[in-house]
This record gives sequence, structure tokens and C-alpha cells, in this order.
Amino acid sequence: MVDLRGQYEKIKHEIDSSIQEVIDSTAFIKGFAVGQFQESLEKYLDVRHVIPCANGTDALQVSMMALGLKPGDEVITASFTFIATAEVIALLGLTPVFADVDPGTFNIVPEDIERRITKKTRAIIPVHLFGQSADMDKIMQIAKKYDLYVIEDNCQAIGADCFFKDDTSKKAGTIGTIGTTSFFPSKNLGCFGDGGALFTNDDELAKKVRSIVNHGMTVRYYHDDIGVNSRLDTIQAAVLKVKLAYLDEYIAARQKAAAFYDSAFGSEPKLTIPARAALSTHVFHQYTLKLNGVDRAALIEYLAEKGIPAMIYYPVPIHLQKAYEQYGFKAGDLPVTEDLCSRVISLPMHTELDEEQLKYITTSVLEFINQ
Ligand SMILES: *Cc1c(COP(=O)(O)O)cnc(C)c1O
Repeated sequence: MVDLRGQYEKIKHEIDSSIQEVIDSTAFIKGFAVGQFQESLEKYLDVRHVIPCANGTDALQVSMMALGLKPGDEVITASFTFIATAEVIALLGLTPVFADVDPGTFNIVPEDIERRITKKTRAIIPVHLFGQSADMDKIMQIAKKYDLYVIEDNCQAIGADCFFKDDTSKKAGTIGTIGTTSFFPSKNLGCFGDGGALFTNDDELAKKVRSIVNHGMTVRYYHDDIGVNSRLDTIQAAVLKVKLAYLDEYIAARQKAAAFYDSAFGSEPKLTIPARAALSTHVFHQYTLKLNGVDRAALIEYLAEKGIPAMIYYPVPIHLQKAYEQYGFKAGDLPVTEDLCSRVISLPMHTELDEEQLKYITTSVLEFINQ
């Protein structure tokens, strides 16, 4: 699905020397590269605070701890997402409430969020799924109206531009109360292991987050908060500071591959190409098709035989996962989410796809569809 080796080979010298610098310094924890990467990312995102941490799941957990959410508080999020989003809500004893998504963009529907707000609702977690921002214009209006926090799960859309009705724009992840991301190797900005970060423009909140990721400690061995141990490794920061300079190039490469897929599949009635959100650019973490009356399992098998990987993101919605039955959702509650899980398919999407590969993939898909 991704070609991490091909991407690495092109910038091997830069990456290797950046990692070697860390090894030579032996400052493996909180070394200089962490601060350098943090500052560069603050500039790139135009946000006051980037707080690096160990992974995207921790970033979500820490965001809710820093906001002081308490057991019993309700948090509205999508069910059509990676499990981490809901997992940390449950882990903290909060109650996940799932809202449905849009059949075209796959992102959470603001009107369905509003419908599910109760006296116990404290926060909304929009997930900017597959590379484009949810409708933050409307979500922020709802949050304001009901006095709710907004935690953006931006693990899949780093670098996406989100537009507002007044013609201004911001980077996805910097719009809500706080934003989170992951630097897992296959994410759009990936390191060589685990990594993550939080973003906020709120100075007080940033202070709290910095304390919580560091054992609740601002002055050494004095603990004002109950915290966790969640740091970005210096070696990972050394990789990320090199790759951040290429992020816009990487996004352009993904968009080019997506355009190729679009033109190959756009007029095929058995396939629906991914819709573009009205108020966001698309950075194509995934290229996800909807199949219309196509045997998905057989297609995946056919592609596998030709050496083409394809994945289902996501086969089972979170509200129907065994561990999440306790929250009282049942089949039929989120019709769009459930329908998508039954017929989406994601094709290889990365920065190294060349025209020959794209031709091979698209021809193979069309061969199967029209056989
Ligand atoms: C990857 C991902 C996460 C978790 O990130 P990790 O770094 O793997 O912990 C959370 N939410 C979404 C939507 C993701 O895609």
C-alpha cells in the first residue's frame, strides 16, 4: 500500500546524517532535533504550539486528559474511523457517542453531531478521514452554540487546507480547541517508528499538555498533574525534520496519483470515486472507492494474484465492534457508516507511484469489473 523504501532512497543521505547526528550527540531523549522539528512544524501549520508525543493514540488520550474530561462525559465522534479514536474515549471512562458520516466525503455529518448532543456532551472529535478535513466551519459553530471542546483527529490529513465561509483558510488540526496527529510510518508525514503530536493555539492548554506528556511534571520531581510518559524519540524527530521539508511535494505526488485513478475510474458505473469536500483540500492518505454491486472479496483476491495490494478501511464500524457493544449502538443505527464498511476499498496510495504502476493497477481493477 505504501513504498517506504522508495521514498527513503531518494533522501537517504539527508536522513542518515540527521540520525547520525543524534547518535553522535547521545541525546536520545529530548535531544535538539525534537525542538527543531517542533518549531518547523509550528511554522508549517501556523499554530502557536506543537507538543510532540509518542504516537497518535497518546495524542488523543492526552488531549482529553488536558481538557479535564471526566468519567461519564460524552464525546461525539465517528464510527467510521480507526479504533484509536474511540479507544481512548473508552479507556478514560468517557462515553463514546457515534455520529454518522457523509456518503461522499466519508467525514462526520455536523447535523448528526448536533442531533446527538445531550446535557452530558463535553467534546466533539471530528476525524479528518483519508486526507480531507471534516466540515470545521459548521462543527465550530455547533461547538460554540453548545459550549463544547473540539479535538481534531488529524492523523490522516496533515497538511490539508481547510477553508471557511469568509474565505480564510487554516491547516487541518489547528482549528479546534486542540488537534492531534500520528507520525506512524505509513501516515502522510511518517517517521521510522512511532510518533505523534498535539497542536493548539491556547497557551494554558499547551502548558497542561506539556506537563501531562511528561509525567505531570513542570518542575522536576514535582507533579501537579497525573500524567503519562509520552515523548517523541529524538531519532524519530531527526527523521521527521528532514521529511517535513518534503511534505508539500509528497502531498502533490499523492494528488497526482489520485487524479490518475479518478480519470481511469470516473466514468465506470460500478465504481464511485472519492468525493472532494467543498471546504478542504484532499491530501489523499487513502484513495478509497465505493463498489457498486461488485464482489469485493473476489476483487481483492484478483488484485492480490496480480501482486496489487488493496485494503478495506474499515471492514467493521466501531459501534458494531464487540468491545463497544456496551455503549448500546446496534446494526442500523448508522446506516451510511454501515453501508460504507460493506463496500469501500482502498488502493495503493503513496508518494512513489509511477505512471506504469498506476496503469497496471487501474487496468487490473477495470479488467475484473468488466469481465
Ligand atoms: C493512525 C491513526 C490513529 C493512531 O495513531 P498511532 O500513531 O498509530 O497511535 C488515530 N486516529 C486515526 C484516524 C488514525 O488514522
